[in-house]
Amino acid sequence: MFVSRGHDEVRTVVVTRGGLAALAAVAGVVLLFASALVFTVVRARVAPEIMAPAGAGAQLVAELNALEGKLATLDGQMSVLLKRNEELRIMADLPKIPVEVAAVGVGGPGHEETAGLLAGGPVERRLAAAESDLDVLLRRSGLVASSMRHAEQIIRGKTDRWGATPSILPTDGFLSSPFSFARKHPLLGTFRPHYGVDISARAGNKVLATADGRVTVAGWSSGSGNHVEIDHGYGIRTLYSHNAKLLVRTGELVRRGEPIGLVGSTGVSVGPHVHYEVHEQGQPVDPMKFIFPDVAAD
Ligand SMILES: [Zn+2]
Repeated sequence: MFVSRGHDEVRTVVVTRGGLAALAAVAGVVLLFASALVFTVVRARVAPEIMAPAGAGAQLVAELNALEGKLATLDGQMSVLLKRNEELRIMADLPKIPVEVAAVGVGGPGHEETAGLLAGGPVERRLAAAESDLDVLLRRSGLVASSMRHAEQIIRGKTDRWGATPSILPTDGFLSSPFSFARKHPLLGTFRPHYGVDISARAGNKVLATADGRVTVAGWSSGSGNHVEIDHGYGIRTLYSHNAKLLVRTGELVRRGEPIGLVGSTGVSVGPHVHYEVHEQGQPVDPMKFIFPDVAAD
């Protein structure tokens, strides 16, 4: 579902938000269409009594033919929706919709039997059958619409969560110092925790946002030099220190892979590198645990 290529990461989400919205809209249209057909049936049932007997039968048959044609079309569209709904449910890791919901079709074996039980002539029976088909379609369209909404919510939650995961290295370089709770400081010589990783890289290399988020700090401090902090939501924040130059401002929204600064050695630093931190619920964690080397899960 997701593809990333190192720092030039490309994210492919098979189901776009627009696509989901379109599907929900299609389900809504089918529901409306089915409702409209109900009125046609009711009108057709009433028609014989309010019209002159001569010619009424022929008109009713013509309306019935049209109605049955529309029902067949609607049934075809419903099958497409059911199939798409099933795919969405697989992506959302939801169980299959109950077989009785998916399997009940229009004009199946049960259809003739039900229609045959009803009194009346052939036209009456066809009307009754059309009515029962409509009931089935209405029920199914309602179920499919709610099932799709459920799957959509879950998929959206997953893609948002993925977007907030700092899954790439912040620059093209190499790990020169790992995350540690007690490391000998390269300049100060004392043992102090190192709440991030150092990625050494050529001065001037781009420093990239490692996930989607909002810049909460883009400023200067004597220790961190030019630094950027990004809030990714879900309690996740990232920090990028020692930049030569910053390319974003506080409050800006950034996407994963977007340049936010240039590698430098500002603040307390021995050479060009990015000191990169990830905080989860306010606690510093090893950034490497989030990073997908080159290719993420498909
Ligand atoms: Zn560092």
